[in-house]
Amino acid sequence: MTTMTLNAEPGALVLFSGGQDSTVCLAYALDRYARVETIGFDYGQRHGVELECRQQVREALVQGFPAWADRLGPDHMIDISSFGAIGDTALTSDAEIVMLESELPSTFVPGRNLVFFVYAAALGYRRGLTTLVGGMCETDYSGYPDCRDATLRAQQEAIRLGTDVPFSLDTPLMRRSKAEIWGLAQELGGDALVQLITEETHTCYKGERGVRHDWGYGCGECPACELRAQGFADWRNSAAKSKRRYSSRT
Ligand code: ZN
Repeated sequence: MTTMTLNAEPGALVLFSGGQDSTVCLAYALDRYARVETIGFDYGQRHGVELECRQQVREALVQGFPAWADRLGPDHMIDISSFGAIGDTALTSDAEIVMLESELPSTFVPGRNLVFFVYAAALGYRRGLTTLVGGMCETDYSGYPDCRDATLRAQQEAIRLGTDVPFSLDTPLMRRSKAEIWGLAQELGGDALVQLITEETHTCYKGERGVRHDWGYGCGECPACELRAQGFADWRNSAAKSKRRYSSRT
C-alpha cells in the first residue's frame, strides 16, 4: 500500500543540467504535463558554467513560451559533492579528457545516472511527481553503461519496488541521434526553441563560452562539442534535403 497522495494532475520532475539534451527534455515535459519541476545536481563539477546556464534557460523558457510558463514549478538543487569525490575522473579533477582502455572517455563517472534517479525519486515522492524525465541517450552515448535503456528499465523497476509508488522513468531522447534531438526541439518549440538552445545551453566539457558557433558556444574540440556540432550540421543538412524534396513536388 502506498501512503503517497497523488495529485489529480500528473506531473513530471526533469533532471535538468542546463545542457542541450536536458533542455529539450524540459520542453518535452512542459509540452505534456500540467505540472513540471526541475532537479539539478552539484557533484563538484570542474566548471560551474552548465549550472549557471540552468537559471537562464528556465527564465528564457518562461519569457519565450507563455503556455509553458504556468506549468513550470520550482527548481531543486541538490548538493552531492561527496559523490563527485568518489568519481575522481576528468570532469571532476584536472586530469585531461582521454579515451580509457575500457573504451570509455575519462569523463565517465561510474553510476552517475543511477544516483541522479535515486535522488529524483526521493524528491518526486515528496512532491507528488511520479514521472522522472532524463536526457539519457544510447545512440550517441559515448559508451556510458548507465545511459542504456536496459539499465534504466531495471532501475525503474527497483525504484517502484523500493518506494511502492508506480514511478515512470521517461527518457525521450533514448533512441534519437543528436540531429534528431535538434529536430525534436524544432517540433516542440519551433525556431524560437532552437534559438534558445543555441544561445543559452551549454554542453562543452571544458566550460568555454568565448566563441559562438552556429550550433552554440564551446571550445569546438572536446568530444561534447564535436557531437553537438556534428548533430547540428546533420540536422541542418537533412532539413535542407527535405525542403528541396518538398519544393520539387510543388
Ligand atoms: Zn568543448
